[in-house]
Amino acid sequence: MIALARSPRVTRWMQGNRAAAALARRFVGGGDVAAATAVARELERAGFKTSLYYLGEYVEDPALVAENGRQKIAAAEALAAARMQVHVSCDATQLGYAIDDAAGATLALRIGERLRALAEAGAQQPVLMLNMEDAAYVDRILVLRRHLLAAGVPVAQTLQAYLKRTAADLVPIIDEGGMVRLVKGAFADAGAHAFQGAAAIDANYLALAARMLAPEAKARGFRPVFGTHDHRLIPQIRDLARVNGWKPGEYGFEMLYGVRPLLQQALRDAGEEVRLYLPFGRAWWPYAVRRVGESPRNFLLLARTVLGG
Ligand SMILES: Cc1cc2nc3c(=O)[nH]c(=O)nc-3n(C[C@H](O)[C@H](O)[C@H](O)COP(=O)(O)OP(=O)(O)OC[C@H]3O[C@@H](n4cnc5c(N)ncnc54)[C@H](O)[C@@H]3O)c2cc1C
Repeated sequence: MIALARSPRVTRWMQGNRAAAALARRFVGGGDVAAATAVARELERAGFKTSLYYLGEYVEDPALVAENGRQKIAAAEALAAARMQVHVSCDATQLGYAIDDAAGATLALRIGERLRALAEAGAQQPVLMLNMEDAAYVDRILVLRRHLLAAGVPVAQTLQAYLKRTAADLVPIIDEGGMVRLVKGAFADAGAHAFQGAAAIDANYLALAARMLAPEAKARGFRPVFGTHDHRLIPQIRDLARVNGWKPGEYGFEMLYGVRPLLQQALRDAGEEVRLYLPFGRAWWPYAVRRVGESPRNFLLLARTVLGG
């Protein structure tokens, strides 16, 4: 799957192939900001919140980095104009961190300042959610978060349960009443710094969730978000929330658009806040093929796509 995601030839072929449109539609909210905003509006009507994500990561071409910055800002402005919550997700490596940290931080600040300005103009609770990338970027992304916070940007942070360091990284963000989206982690290259195996990662996920849902976190105004499709963890998280006096909406769940839609609906119907991570843009193949790799059932969809059915 990684080879398929990284192959420029396969990427060009799939992204230019009409038959592949079904795969794109399943996981991606359209090719541009207007299409993504329309999908976000439909999801809002269906009772879901969204986080818009312009596709393209680990970008080393300065022209593409600049385009990524423009698209993030365009997404925020379109959501504000449509009077929807301005929630935008971002990879540091789309903003220049794969080339030069200082230039990446400058572009991230420009996007963050636009969100801050939209908030001052009355936009609904803007959030710039920083995704977390491979282990080489963790410190640098946490530094970026502090830099944005100091500039008054409404910034939130994704943390990964597979890393042993995450418990320590979480503490200051809880103490300052910040916002964290907890995920298991999509990378497997951290060696001794990582928990090994699904059981150990799940156990750490729950231990971190317990900290995020502790009464002290609530008292600090901390905002916990659980980015998972794990039907075994979700009930345990909901129990923790209830026991500690959190109401739905004071914490939330976030899932990927197109992944386990029945679970998304069930959680929404149970009264929980469910946000969908909604990617858009033309560089959809590497993202979609990773989603395929996460579940054997998705292979059927890929096979149908490749066969043009
Ligand atoms: C909103 C959001 C943001 C994320 N941001 C980041 C980030 O910034 N950095 C990072 O490293 N990772 C990120 N991830 C990915 C995350 O780390 C996991 O790799 C991914 O979510 C799968 O983990 P899981 O918690 O769903 O548990 P798993 O144990 O992988 O899956 C739980 C259940 O869901 C099913 N499932 C999972 N994925 C799929 C799929 N694609 N299709 C069908 N069924 C599926 C599994 O089969 C299993 O039954 C994010 C995930 C989400 C939901």
